[in-house]
Amino acid sequence: MKKLQHIGLGLFLVGLALFTSLIFLGKYEVNSELFQTFVSNKGIKSELFISNINANVVDKTFTNPFAFSSKITSALETANATHKAANEWDKVIWDKPHSFSFELAKQVGSGLIQENKGLFWWLTFGLGIFGALLYIVPNVITLGPPGIKNNGIYLNAATNRGWIGWFAFVFLVGFYILLYFRPDYIVNWVYLVDPISESISGNAASQWFLYGFLYCVVMIVMAIRMYIKYRHNKYQILRTTSVLFFQIVFAFLIPEILVRFEKPWYDFKNAFPLDYDFFFSWNLDQLIASGGLGLFILVWGIVLTLVIVPLMVYFFGKRWYCSWVCGCGGLAETLGDPYRQLSDKSLKAWKLERWLVHGVLVFALFMTGLTLYSYFSGAQQVIGLKTQTIQDIYGFLIGSIFAGVIGTGFYPIFGNRVWCRFGCPLAAYLGLVQRFKSRFRITTNGGQCISCGNCSTYCEQGIDVRAYAQKGENIVRASCVGCGICSAVCPRGVLKLENGPEKGRINPTEILLGNDVDLMDLINQK
Ligand code: SF4
Ligand code: SF4
Repeated sequence: MKKLQHIGLGLFLVGLALFTSLIFLGKYEVNSELFQTFVSNKGIKSELFISNINANVVDKTFTNPFAFSSKITSALETANATHKAANEWDKVIWDKPHSFSFELAKQVGSGLIQENKGLFWWLTFGLGIFGALLYIVPNVITLGPPGIKNNGIYLNAATNRGWIGWFAFVFLVGFYILLYFRPDYIVNWVYLVDPISESISGNAASQWFLYGFLYCVVMIVMAIRMYIKYRHNKYQILRTTSVLFFQIVFAFLIPEILVRFEKPWYDFKNAFPLDYDFFFSWNLDQLIASGGLGLFILVWGIVLTLVIVPLMVYFFGKRWYCSWVCGCGGLAETLGDPYRQLSDKSLKAWKLERWLVHGVLVFALFMTGLTLYSYFSGAQQVIGLKTQTIQDIYGFLIGSIFAGVIGTGFYPIFGNRVWCRFGCPLAAYLGLVQRFKSRFRITTNGGQCISCGNCSTYCEQGIDVRAYAQKGENIVRASCVGCGICSAVCPRGVLKLENGPEKGRINPTEILLGNDVDLMDLINQK
């Protein structure tokens, strides 16, 4: 079995290495006819930019995307700087330079990969998926008797912040930086999924389609690992199936199919303020212009945040969203599962978590307040602050760096819920409802606790579950996402996720079931 797993790992690494190396390849040639069409489609009025590209790019051959991109972005930045200095605002090209360069590169790229998309898909995605499954599936046999096995988790370089963990960290962070800030460097990756995109939405793929597709693939492969690892736990099987369903159907397929019918791309499960640009003017305008469906989405988005989300948290806790529906939670629970023991349980981390997550919520609400005021009043500036600038800062710091680069890239170092715990404004909102107005709690049968610490170790939200269990105190914490792993790994059946009456949900914090408590007395008191 080990041999098979080693072959699987080898194939996975070959697929990954090939995938990575693709960004260094390709051929990019712009002929003058194509450039003219591109310029007129984009409505570019800058002669400076056009003449620069004609002189330095048109009819020249570039053999990698970096050289091509540097010519385009520097021409664009130089032209923009000149036009802005001369107050020629109609000539400024407002596209982000690297997105602009991506668009052009995507149209003019040629060569081996562009001409053999299917073959390279199999050599990268295909080999990676097959290798990963070959590594994961034999575990069904090697795991032996029922139970969750985390054997050797602190001795494995992949899961104890060893060299494999750091390698994964660098790869993930690098991937997110390219995805968010340098899409023009990953044109070859995007080519690979063009046929799939065309078959679903009718359009060539963008880097966001690549991301959505990759997201689903990674979740499916790692969900198979979850099914095997937690195969004796119905709650985990159902929960994994649920996040997989919502990711594939709601976050990936439905939005792409909507585009096919010329409707706005929309993920029906993505609630504001996680969906932070829902109230941005471009989105509101697009929804209003899209007729009945657009208006339905508008009403649905508001009702989801103001009514459905808190009502469901009241009945089931924030777990219904964070552990059963959300895409970020879904990735954390599948790709991130091997890293859950790395979440910091210290008091310092808890304090930081509360400041950060609520700070992001306040930031999101403040930005949205400014946005709506600007939308209805037409003012670009409110109390001396430019709405656009605040949106840009939020998009960069929270939407890209925190949610993407740190939120997922840091899994192998800080555990799998970095974003959900420290950054997600929706989690903060759900947490406030869960803490103060919900039927959800984890009850602890403290008398049975042997203080092994399994529950605290595997709590991805950094909650010291054992401290509650030792006292027999209910766990009512804003950050608990109800993943149920603490309960699953407890050898004594101490912990139970329950929804019940609010009365008595928060019990006293003094020691309830210590050595000096006579359990029979407590039973008699009842
Ligand atoms: S306390 Fe338990 S259910 Fe809540 S997040 Fe931690 S491990 Fe998951
Ligand atoms: S896993 Fe169970 S027995 Fe172990 S410390 Fe936690 S509650 Fe106690």
